Amino acid sequence: MMSNQHKIPQATAKRLPLYYRFLNNLHIQGKSRVSSRELSEAIKVDSATIRRDFSYFGALGKKGYGYNVEYLLGFFRKTLDQDENTPVALIGVGNLGTAFLNYNFTKNNNTKIEMAFDADKQKVGSTIGDVQVHHIDELEDYLDKISVAILTVPVSEAQNITDRLVDAGISGILNFTPARITVPDSIRVHHIDLAVELQSLVYFMKHYPLNDDND
Ligand code: ATP
Repeated sequence: MMSNQHKIPQATAKRLPLYYRFLNNLHIQGKSRVSSRELSEAIKVDSATIRRDFSYFGALGKKGYGYNVEYLLGFFRKTLDQDENTPVALIGVGNLGTAFLNYNFTKNNNTKIEMAFDADKQKVGSTIGDVQVHHIDELEDYLDKISVAILTVPVSEAQNITDRLVDAGISGILNFTPARITVPDSIRVHHIDLAVELQSLVYFMKHYPLNDDND
């Protein structure tokens, strides 16, 4: 990780993977530069925000030239640790978990689900999307090289599994269960509740309708 990374505001840091994915695609297409307007139209972030974000990365766009794709990619690779593979474990191979195992995460970045765990004996021993499913009782035996876990277990199991993950040395959890799990301060949890996100989208559509003049 870059030492100056702490200076990047969190809102900017959250957009890094989005920028990285788009610029990587441009690079693959052989493009060497891009304007903030092009970026803005493609990733739906306003161009003033993009210019401000990029100034944190030391990338100053030139009028009539835009940004150097290779420079930005180099920065993102270092900052996002794209040169390093981050192995991920998935806990709970139900409908959602199975979909994640079948989804090819590595296409655009270097996070990969390396192993999965479930309590159901019918699922243990199977391989889904190249990933082997182990019994949850064996969790602690396998986690030594893993620092990130995806949680797709039933809500009733979420805290118990979280405690075990923390004890086993996991430092980040992507929680897809509706449970508000409790972790020590040193553990980062990102919470994705699809039902809440959908409800929120519908609420905003109703109460904050968009028009062409403002957002
Ligand atoms: P399915 O249709 O396969 O049951 P689902 O997503 O509707 O999937 P859930 O009840 O949400 O089912 O369970 C998700 C997965 O978590 C299931 O595969 C289940 O076997 C698994 N699971 C349940 N308890 C545990 C546990 N303690 N540890 C690990 N996995 C568990």
